[in-house]
Amino acid sequence: TRDQRWEMRVRTLGDGRRVVHLIDRTGSYAAERMRVDFVANASHELRTPLASLLGYVETLREDAGDDPGTRARFLKIVFGEAQRMQRLIEDLISLSRIEAEKYRVPDKAVDLADLIDQVTVELSGSPRAADLVIQIADVPAVVGDPTQLSQLLHNVIGNAMKYGRDATPVTVTLQPEGEAMVRLSVADEGEGIPPQHIPRLTERFYRVDSGRSRSLGGTGLGLAIVKHIVERHRGRLDIASAVGKGTTVTILLPVQRLS
Ligand code: ADP
Repeated sequence: TRDQRWEMRVRTLGDGRRVVHLIDRTGSYAAERMRVDFVANASHELRTPLASLLGYVETLREDAGDDPGTRARFLKIVFGEAQRMQRLIEDLISLSRIEAEKYRVPDKAVDLADLIDQVTVELSGSPRAADLVIQIADVPAVVGDPTQLSQLLHNVIGNAMKYGRDATPVTVTLQPEGEAMVRLSVADEGEGIPPQHIPRLTERFYRVDSGRSRSLGGTGLGLAIVKHIVERHRGRLDIASAVGKGTTVTILLPVQRLS
């Protein structure tokens, strides 16, 4: 196929015969291309707010800076752009930390109900906090990394609040899934996601509507982070959505085994 990359290695034997090795490098080329794309995307995502920020600072240094109204307005924009860059850098750092820890299996007993409470408090400042409905059954502790699981909850519940519709609930449910797993689901009644986008949502910087994501403060990395956290926890992630009706994100996590 077009994307197939073969590496050829030729070895000469003692009697002069030559052996040709063909090594399939398709996988590593794909990984390399993804890495290059990622660096290009990340740089672009940082360059845009930085250019805008510098433009406003430049204007402020000129006459525009003399008018208090204009100054206040421009400073607000500069602050917003700096915050956007900060969010992106925080997400990039999280992603690389999680990837670095990929092969270290997490081993703490984590009470998801407690974490949900904490994350809800953190999100309570957001405009749609009033719409949160929490349904928690008695479930065993999961095995995990509490910092990462709290980030997972933050991203998934945060998305449901961002992309949900005003005055409709965001429902967070926690229940047992057989003996060995716990099921967490986060459902919103927002705009939903067209089916062709769903398989790509966990790619870094993939967004259904970039303008909307950016205006809501999204970095495009939230679900990529969630996917990595779920993988490290040997869990499962499923996104189901119906356009105009809403989206449900379901995550299964293994419970701690009593030995
Ligand atoms: P972002 O920072 O843009 O929210 P994410 O990685 O968290 O990035 O999500 C990727 C994209 O998936 C979002 O830009 C949005 O288009 C879509 N998305 C995620 N969660 C939802 C949801 N609950 N409802 C509708 N669309 C969603």
